[in-house]
Amino acid sequence: MNTAWLDPELLVRRIVPGDWPSLERVLLSGNVDDPCMHPRLFEIIGHWLSVNTKLKIHMHTNGSLRTTKWFGELGRISADHPDRLRVIFAIDGLEDTNHIYRRGSNWQKIQDNWRAYIAAGGYALWQCVVFDQNRHQIEKIKQLQAAEGFRDIRLRYSGRQWADGAAKVTELPTHAGHSKVICKSTTSAERPPELFINHQGDVSPCCFIDLSNIKVSDRYLGIISQLGSNVPYNLHDADIDSIVRGAWFDWLFDNWQTNRECVKHCRDNLRDSVIIQQAPII
Ligand code: SF4
Repeated sequence: MNTAWLDPELLVRRIVPGDWPSLERVLLSGNVDDPCMHPRLFEIIGHWLSVNTKLKIHMHTNGSLRTTKWFGELGRISADHPDRLRVIFAIDGLEDTNHIYRRGSNWQKIQDNWRAYIAAGGYALWQCVVFDQNRHQIEKIKQLQAAEGFRDIRLRYSGRQWADGAAKVTELPTHAGHSKVICKSTTSAERPPELFINHQGDVSPCCFIDLSNIKVSDRYLGIISQLGSNVPYNLHDADIDSIVRGAWFDWLFDNWQTNRECVKHCRDNLRDSVIIQQAPII
């Protein structure tokens, strides 16, 4: 079980308000844990909101943790910063199907939490990964999310597989790969460059290269150590500018077209397609 948290003081030290006037969006996502697990999440949200006045936070949760009181407080923070804190509830079905992918989840608790958040004025989105077991429920899910006060629904089509490699989930017919790596974090025409900071303070271009992920960390930490001593990659040791201009990022830029994670995710396109659907008017 993970017991490490991104230290809010580290963020305050490295992301100084006023120094990031162009930063548009921060995504709090559960690469390792659900963001709701962070014991000082409200401080982290407060800090990001102070970085500049136009920055928006998108936070992903499955809605299963915490209490209605906690979600009510989160909703009030969202209401106090109009359109700047959006919570995306990952709910992959209805009461009889959500738990199939979201194993161990409790529908009543999720429902109580989203209701507390929305009742407090929080900006909520419903995200649903489309699987065989819920695809027949999509219209009902759209109606429910609109009736419950979600602002919108995102249908997510995925190239993911189950851990045993069986039962590949739904893919759109258009979910094709590319002839070469196109880096979504630094070269996308559709959105500005991105950076990923994990809960340990490691910095990389994207969450696919999460240096705390046991499946990829050995390989990349090995590469970093071969690049030389004191190559900056962690916010505890260096600021973001030094990391992005350092040997670690240079290596990634030089090896995009052959690097394993880049080929897998940004050439063969084993990542999700998301369709934003307008909620029906009820
Ligand atoms: S996997 Fe590689 S190519 Fe894809 S976004 Fe990350 S750094 Fe860029």
